[in-house]
Amino acid sequence: DLKGTFRLHNGVDMPYFGLGVYLSEDGKEVTNAVKWALQDGYRHIDTASIYNNEEGVGLGIRESGVDRKDIFVVSKVWNSDQGYESTIRAYESSLERLNLDYLDLYLVHWPVKGKYKETWRAMEYLYKHKGVRAIGVSNFLQHHLEDLIAASEIVPMVNQMEFHPYLVQQDLIDFCHKNTIQYEAWSPLMQGHIFELEIMKDLAAKYKKSIAQIVLRWDLQKGVITIPKSAKKDRIRANADIFDFELAPEDVKKLENLDRGKRFGPDPDNFD
Ligand code: NAD
Repeated sequence: DLKGTFRLHNGVDMPYFGLGVYLSEDGKEVTNAVKWALQDGYRHIDTASIYNNEEGVGLGIRESGVDRKDIFVVSKVWNSDQGYESTIRAYESSLERLNLDYLDLYLVHWPVKGKYKETWRAMEYLYKHKGVRAIGVSNFLQHHLEDLIAASEIVPMVNQMEFHPYLVQQDLIDFCHKNTIQYEAWSPLMQGHIFELEIMKDLAAKYKKSIAQIVLRWDLQKGVITIPKSAKKDRIRANADIFDFELAPEDVKKLENLDRGKRFGPDPDNFD
């Protein structure tokens, strides 16, 4: 169900379904989205300092009436804050804006060249001394991960990547799996483009579910944590309604076969 979790390599349980809030505006919009999601049973919220909505997220958490300890809150250190001291400061500032005492997961947002290893040292410090329950990365390709792991004490617990039927990156998923790094999807709905695919319309009809529900269910069956974004009450509720059906193996395969290495977001090798 919505509270179902995958266990990270440090023993922390991470809810495999969450709410993304990129482009949800700070203020009423994001506060309502977070509040509605939590009241509907979501237990995982994904924000970042660059989204400029941490204050509204924090407010939504408090207004929901759900216990802080039952919610998995994720934020990310932005590129311009990378480096040792600045990452620690960025973490403290995120906590202040969110009005929280700790994060459940803090991520390095992008692999900024020449900086991400220093940044990771700060993440290790935050994990050991500042109460962050788990630390991870985002947008790290295999060569970034190999480089990081070779130079670090702690293996990232999570890698949050663009992931959808047009960008599967199965080799990277397998590499992460082998290295006990939990894979997580961003833009699971292809930023809205998923709704244009004929095959998704066919599968939706076959299972009597929506296109969003089909692709989000696919994420779960692939063992990938997923955080679809919506700020609309009915969509937030409907997107999470994926626990009463199962895709047949051949349909899981069908979606995998759509893979064409197509990104809707930036390329991690050319973005910092
Ligand atoms: P998404 O794939 O979740 O798609 C969101 C779009 O789909 C929005 O336009 C939304 O209005 C629409 N939508 C949602 N539910 C719908 C429904 N049921 N029917 C029709 N339309 C629907 O895109 P995203 O926001 O880019 O990704 C999700 C989250 O991932 C973000 O909010 C953010 O938290 C995270 N993210 C992380 C990174 C990163 O670099 N780590 C990058 C992008 C996004």
